Amino acid sequence: MNHSPLALANDAIVLLAQGIMRQYTKVLNQEIVRQDDSLSLELYKAMCKLGRLYIEEGKPDRAACVHAVLERARDPNYSWGLEVFERDDFPFRQARLIESELRVPTADCAEIAHSSGAFGEDNVIERRLYEQLLEATEKVGRRRKHKAYTAVRELLGRRSLIGERQLIDYLNENDLTPLQGIINEAFFDSVPEIWLIDSLAYSCEYCGTLLRRNATGKIQCPLRQCEGYEPSKVKEPKKIDPNDDRLLIAKPQILTYWTGPGIDELKIFDAAKQRGLDAKLYPESDLCDIAINDRQIGIDVKSYRDPVCLASKLNRGIGGLSNYRRRIIAVSDLLIKDTACSGNK
Ligand SMILES: [Zn+2]
Repeated sequence: MNHSPLALANDAIVLLAQGIMRQYTKVLNQEIVRQDDSLSLELYKAMCKLGRLYIEEGKPDRAACVHAVLERARDPNYSWGLEVFERDDFPFRQARLIESELRVPTADCAEIAHSSGAFGEDNVIERRLYEQLLEATEKVGRRRKHKAYTAVRELLGRRSLIGERQLIDYLNENDLTPLQGIINEAFFDSVPEIWLIDSLAYSCEYCGTLLRRNATGKIQCPLRQCEGYEPSKVKEPKKIDPNDDRLLIAKPQILTYWTGPGIDELKIFDAAKQRGLDAKLYPESDLCDIAINDRQIGIDVKSYRDPVCLASKLNRGIGGLSNYRRRIIAVSDLLIKDTACSGNK
């Protein structure tokens, strides 16, 4: 329900390419490939995703053994036996990841591995979502695509729970009607009945997304960047009858990568606007999160829980932020408090 097979196949291959690059470094260091904890996380995640593809296609899981998976990536005559890999719209249809005779990663493999900008599952998914949206906004034409990009990201940030008619209105108001199909399909799901509480959808009073009951039965916001993540802070949720307008909720990966981080981004943007500053949200299709006075100030909000991850990401480059005269990396107080707490444990 959450992933289309194509998206899953895409992530599986990028992670597999990353896993192969990591494994190759280990082999160069004379380490032996073993199916245990020493397996790179990328390779492990790739195997999980491949396994899921086999199961979803009703086939026996052929991705459970790392040696078999690597062998398959190497043998030019071997087919994965997955229908989704044969689809015309699967971008890695032709890709071969390991040189069959030389047993080194192919140039394709290195290219695919680095296509996400950084290694790891999070980066792979985030990159794919970004590219999906860029491709979609091309439909409105070169002159308007940046504006469309901002409007869609703002929608996913502010209105991650929305009625179908409200969504159509938003798209009309923002001249995004050509994107309706793709937005509906790629970014939203219908609210499943099991997430309703007494047949109603509860919407978070802080961020507006759909509240859920957690494992202990308490109602909370699923976004960790939101105040409502703390069940004791949930006070007056808005209750919506799904029979009035079919309710849509942003897909889990959108909530994780865009809506959650968007909470702080929108707060900064709104505060800048309130002070009468010339602020732009996600300018030029995401050069930074918030720009003030065109290229004078660029702000990126980072919500990495792990400071080491953030440092390593920044060491690789600051991306579009480099285009701004003054560059600001913002980290929310809540996150700092959280990280400090878990660090003390
Ligand atoms: Zn919330």
